[in-house]
Amino acid sequence: MLKTHSCGELRKKHVGEKVTLAGWVDRRRDHGKLIFIDLRDREGIVQVAFNPEIARLCHEIASRMRSEYVVRISGEVALRPPGTENPKLPTGEIEVIARDTNILNPSKTPPFYINEDSEVEESLRLKYRYLDLRRTRMQENLLLRYRAVKFIRDFLDAKGFIEVETPILIKSTPEGARDYLVPSRLHPGEFYALPQSPQQLKQLLMVAGVEKYFQIAKCFRDEDTRADRQPEFTQLDLEMSFVEKEDILNLMEKLFTSMVETLKPEIRIIKPFPRLSYVDALERYGTDKPDLRFGLEIRNLSDIVVQSDFSIFRSAIAEGGKVKGIRAPGCANYSRSQLDELNKMAQGLGAEGLVTMSLGSATSSLSNLTIEMVKSVAAKFLSLDQIKEMAERLEANRGDLLLIIAGKPKIVDMALGELRQEIGHRLNLAEPNLLAFAFIENFPLLRRDKEAERWESEHHPFTAPRDEDVPLLEVAPEKARGKHYDMVCNGYEIGGGSLRIYTSQLQGKVFRLLGYSDDEIEERFGHMLEAFDYGAPPHGGIALGIDRIVMLLAGEKNIREVIAFPKNQNAVDLTFNAPAPVTETQLAELHLRLREE
Ligand code: ASP
Repeated sequence: MLKTHSCGELRKKHVGEKVTLAGWVDRRRDHGKLIFIDLRDREGIVQVAFNPEIARLCHEIASRMRSEYVVRISGEVALRPPGTENPKLPTGEIEVIARDTNILNPSKTPPFYINEDSEVEESLRLKYRYLDLRRTRMQENLLLRYRAVKFIRDFLDAKGFIEVETPILIKSTPEGARDYLVPSRLHPGEFYALPQSPQQLKQLLMVAGVEKYFQIAKCFRDEDTRADRQPEFTQLDLEMSFVEKEDILNLMEKLFTSMVETLKPEIRIIKPFPRLSYVDALERYGTDKPDLRFGLEIRNLSDIVVQSDFSIFRSAIAEGGKVKGIRAPGCANYSRSQLDELNKMAQGLGAEGLVTMSLGSATSSLSNLTIEMVKSVAAKFLSLDQIKEMAERLEANRGDLLLIIAGKPKIVDMALGELRQEIGHRLNLAEPNLLAFAFIENFPLLRRDKEAERWESEHHPFTAPRDEDVPLLEVAPEKARGKHYDMVCNGYEIGGGSLRIYTSQLQGKVFRLLGYSDDEIEERFGHMLEAFDYGAPPHGGIALGIDRIVMLLAGEKNIREVIAFPKNQNAVDLTFNAPAPVTETQLAELHLRLREE
């Protein structure tokens, strides 16, 4: 090694030792006579002092060092003079007195500061990702990611799982997104598809008798990128034979509980992980990925207001709709423009409008609320008792604001769900050091694509319907529930899985329900149906988004912060400038000609 120690490991106990260090110049302070270099490597920073009276040449070389130069320094570890210690640095009690040094490689002035966690435009960070990754925050994120993945591997290994690699060049394995295609040179006009997940492969491994499989797997989905999506992402992919839902959910709960407790003991988790049915999640939080770090649940007020004289409420209920609401704690004194803003938001989400009800300015219990204190267009149509009953149902107090929406149940829930998020965010209600994991269960098996007039899988076509719902596939597919579960955390879906269909007869039936012709089924999934005829065991699994999980563990807001070389929001790799055109020769080899658009 070019060094005997790492910069960050030096302490008082090393005083008097001769050391050789190598790393990057984090900062140089020239005090005329003395020059100080903060030398940085992956383990941390140590101060090096260059004194011309001790080593003249060395001091002269140090005067030429600049930020991010790669240098090597030999010297002796010494206590810093009293009063000059730096309690902020783990190495702050000591310094290295340089006796010999050389510059291994100079550096141009970097386009942004490496030694500060300053805001830098993301495109610049991505272009110079290798410099961005040198920064402490990103080094910590890379390390955390490595530790999380290692934890998962060790945990599953101890439980008897084996990791099996599956191919990247394969045939479409659908998860509801567009495939990335790779043209074949050897087979003109034919294409591989990159897997949207190893779904079919892991199921085939179950037929193969592997019983407990996992993989830290790359998946590829060509969809429009969003803040927390990437064209390629990493998933913990897992499958087990001879299991029931509980086995998989319990395993996941243990894995995540012990991972957080080991890697991030300062983070609190709610144990056991709450479980919600899909219907409950929508009714109470307006979404199937609720943020459970705070309450403000959506509650149904229809039974209270159906008796009122307020026509908006009454007619919504008469038309089969609902009246539901949430509370915004302490927001009774919201200004007109603040209320208008919430109203616009509700309308933007498809609601007819938002009825706000301010419950008096001072915060106190509801007992002395009078009708004069209530400000709302609906107030004069409601009795004080009705208002109090609504407030009680929403667990509101005086000083709170009620947000009420009337209309079609789906829209009401979804709009209130978004408002709930908004209020939670505005009022900072989410406990910062909490990871609120939960499982969502009992999803419908199918959803209707109204435009295309066909059924789509809510999860994917391999998910088994609940046994008692199989007959519904013939008569009322919309009512059939799937053996599908999702795992959510802090408002993100972090994973999902299911118990699978394992007979060719039922799998064929589901494919046909999804609108595939017999020929298409044979062409696309014939290998699966055939495999199921050779003794496929009952099996099920799950897949979890590693990027999102590490993002949450790291307290980051974006998965790009925990991926070494992510694509930007337009699916472009700015470090390599990919995608990029290829030569005519390459196209010809692939039997391709570009179309004029
Ligand atoms: N293949 C699924 C996905 O990627 C997960 C699973 O069903 O195991 O979402």
